[in-house]
Amino acid sequence: MERKEFNDYVRQLVVGVNERVPLLNGSYSTAINFDNAATTPPFHCVLRKIEEFCPWYSSVHRGTGYKSVTTSDWYEAAREEIKAFVHADEEKDILIYTKSTTEAINVLAHTLSQQDGRTVVLSSEMEHLANDLPWRNAFTTDYVAVDRSGRLVLANLEKKLRQYGGSVKLVAVTGASNVTGYMNPIHQIAAICHQYGAQLLVDGAQLVPHCPVDMKPHSSREHIDFLVFSAHKMYAPFGVGILIGPRKAFHDVSPLCKGGGAVKLVGRQFVDWDDSPYKEEAGTPNVIGVVALVAAIRLMTQLDVREIHDYERELTEYIMTGLSEIPGIRLFGRTRSGEDRVSLFSFQAEGLDHRAFAKMLSYEAGIAVRSGLFCAHPYVENLLGVTEKELNYYHKHQEARVPGLVRVSLGVYNTCREADVFLETVGHIIRHKD
Ligand code: PLP
Repeated sequence: MERKEFNDYVRQLVVGVNERVPLLNGSYSTAINFDNAATTPPFHCVLRKIEEFCPWYSSVHRGTGYKSVTTSDWYEAAREEIKAFVHADEEKDILIYTKSTTEAINVLAHTLSQQDGRTVVLSSEMEHLANDLPWRNAFTTDYVAVDRSGRLVLANLEKKLRQYGGSVKLVAVTGASNVTGYMNPIHQIAAICHQYGAQLLVDGAQLVPHCPVDMKPHSSREHIDFLVFSAHKMYAPFGVGILIGPRKAFHDVSPLCKGGGAVKLVGRQFVDWDDSPYKEEAGTPNVIGVVALVAAIRLMTQLDVREIHDYERELTEYIMTGLSEIPGIRLFGRTRSGEDRVSLFSFQAEGLDHRAFAKMLSYEAGIAVRSGLFCAHPYVENLLGVTEKELNYYHKHQEARVPGLVRVSLGVYNTCREADVFLETVGHIIRHKD
């Protein structure tokens, strides 16, 4: 299928692409959503699947009624389908449902912190706070450096692994940055980690929705030990996160969230925890969210995730090239020839506050973007060359001067026409800034 044809087809599959939103001048315009890294709209088939499922909706695991058994079957079968989507190991890996990527990483941090042995977790300077804060306090933490452009420095990873001499339990890095769209070479990183006996967690929140992911490539040294991602960034609703990892990592530890469904038997003086993944899923789970995620994954597979990636990448490059021709724009996330990326990047407009700029895009043309530090404060500080002291000062005394960026993040349903409207609007804002 030609790219344009592909996009025309995909556009019909997504909810809300033709909604009209009010502009500052009193007219209305079709909404343009360039904030897909935060949350994507759902596919129509996802909503249909939810509707189809609702009459069968019942409690999982504990009921004996037909509906309860059917619900439980769907919920369990979904684990294998989601695992297959990222090529997890059928036998060794388990899938734990959480409510988000953030919760998934917290569950993992809680689990690993109860095990003896290695005590260090290496995160990186380009992480979302979800892959930074859960490790603090629970472990000795350190950060793999990024260079001035915002790319991970692999030599620094090796240096740190060597420096900690066998005490690194886990390296926790993002698959793709939620600020620059830079992708990390996760299999190469896995091979380096395994050489030093460390495991690898890939934060796939910005990778899995945009790029084929293979947890178990041909070389076993390059396999991904743990992977996390969120349904609401891949055309399904909020409320489901995924944690995949080796079953053995969850043995003999108590869960973060405790309650019914997580146990085999409880007495006044004892708790016999269930096996994982049930142990990690106390309480009544979000079955509708899981069913919805499977519907989204099926459509993404049908569209071909590689095709999605290529389309989005081409559109990203088109917009970035257009922006680079507008005076006063500084781009974060430019790639070198042949370098891969996901469909998001950030920019700064000289003399214009990031918050005001984002609002103007919405008021002038109904374009939704995100501005600020994108829950990746240290990374953005580093990109902008702002010190923590300065940032803290602005935060406390001059809120209006807290630095930040404007982020554009695309989905497979965004179009070249939308890109042109965006470029025109940016040009207009810059020309009329005074
Ligand atoms: N990691 C990355 C790279 C993200 O971009 C995000 C959200 O934007 C998260 C983690 C957290 O995801 P969630 O809010 O679904 O927990």
